[in-house]
Amino acid sequence: MKSIHSVGENTTASIFKSVRSMATELWKYLRTTDKESIVSDVKDTWLLWKTIVEVYAIAVRTVLKRGPGIVSDLKKYPWLLQLVDLRNLFRSARGRKGAYRKATLNVFKETATSALEYLIDVLKNPDRVVHIQASGTGISELCRAMGLIPYMDMSPPVIAVLANPRSMEKYMDFAESEGIPADVCSLPRCSQGLLFKGESPKAAVSIGNNNCEGQVNASLVYTKKFGLPTFMLDAPNNFKSERAEIFYGKEIMRLVEWLEENTPGKMDWDLLREIMEEKNRAIETEMELWEMTRIQPSPLAGEALWFSHLLSVALTGGMKRATEMFEMLVECAKENMKNGVGAVTEERFRAVIWHAPMATNWHAYRYLEVKWGVSVVQECMMYTEMGLFDTSSNESMLRGIGRLMLNAPMANFARGPSEYYLDPLFSIIKQWGINLVLVGDHIGCKSVAAMTGLLREKCRQQGIPVVFVPYDLMDKRSASWEDVANRLDQFMETIMKVEPLRETVPAVC
Ligand code: SF4
Repeated sequence: MKSIHSVGENTTASIFKSVRSMATELWKYLRTTDKESIVSDVKDTWLLWKTIVEVYAIAVRTVLKRGPGIVSDLKKYPWLLQLVDLRNLFRSARGRKGAYRKATLNVFKETATSALEYLIDVLKNPDRVVHIQASGTGISELCRAMGLIPYMDMSPPVIAVLANPRSMEKYMDFAESEGIPADVCSLPRCSQGLLFKGESPKAAVSIGNNNCEGQVNASLVYTKKFGLPTFMLDAPNNFKSERAEIFYGKEIMRLVEWLEENTPGKMDWDLLREIMEEKNRAIETEMELWEMTRIQPSPLAGEALWFSHLLSVALTGGMKRATEMFEMLVECAKENMKNGVGAVTEERFRAVIWHAPMATNWHAYRYLEVKWGVSVVQECMMYTEMGLFDTSSNESMLRGIGRLMLNAPMANFARGPSEYYLDPLFSIIKQWGINLVLVGDHIGCKSVAAMTGLLREKCRQQGIPVVFVPYDLMDKRSASWEDVANRLDQFMETIMKVEPLRETVPAVC
């Protein structure tokens, strides 16, 4: 048995070794880096730590608002703890510099804090909670104007997977053990797992939809299992027509009346107008940002663009904080443009990621930037041709909300004729000068599986290189990060015929 004395000596020796190796690394860095880069690295490190401290300070304040009830919440909903570990989010700042890093960190800060605030609201007021199957685009604005609290059931699984890619595995497995087929899209399967395990927050009513094949399956389960008054939205398949929009506007009016009958909520039309006008301001600011990202090199890219868009449609739609977030991004983009630098230091290619997003492997964006000089400037989750809302009458607002719901991210490309999937992609290629298409080939999305051949053919005709990356949206077990990285590396080397800018990218998983 080792004596306490020798254990102490070993510990001291290992601390000494670590300090010596850190000092050697630091000395090497100082000797090989110019003064300007050192100043910029110090600023970047300071910004990272400042943001982390700010996020946790906001988190503590928000949780305190919930009071002692938070203890039983954590017991009932253990997945809440997944949202506290933000290391994976903040890791993605590595390899990014200056205004781009600032933009990315601020978007992550907004993601973490708005998600927590929304969940605390849901837990505090169950009698006013409307459980919305999927993302709640449009319905959440409607609910807030009625004094109700929207709970978008896809949001917690998505945020949990971004924070920890393996966090939803037990819920998907549980849904399967309850009879949900393993080939149903893993995104609704996560929400179903939470529901079956009794870990879905309490709600007064629920709203289902038929936006995509994954959702149709989920709706039937929800109606039976939840036992709550449920309203089923009936979205037309060919939804890009005036006839469809008029029909769906009436459907939304029917939803408002149903919510008034089944919940304590009451529509405040003036408040709805305020919300939709604020939403218009956010859209205008985001469009200003998009104009700037068409420039080469793009001043911003990656998650700063698509996380911010998703937040503005899923959690903060119609809130002032959504407009402020886009204003911050516009400022960061202007700063980079003024200094003549792109988000990606050496932008060699401009990419779009098409259906579906790389949720479990979202560090792929940074990997492409740092290793291969690829800027991802558009994404299936953010691209929309929605335009502004007409707030001149109650009917026009409801029709606009209906159009927004019909064009909800992801489902907007997953149903209807093939043009709905292909035309926006080729419009993006033209508008943003795209020279590389990456398709997130999510094995659970049967809605778009039949399109892959058409997409490949059209890209071939137009001479656009395209790579299909097989993976699962929410389940890392079916394709590991190594599989994804190998696929990307092979594509860049053999099809794009370039050498990597550097061999390793820090902290990808
Ligand atoms: S990935 Fe496909 S099936 Fe799954 S939720 Fe999205 S559109 Fe629906």
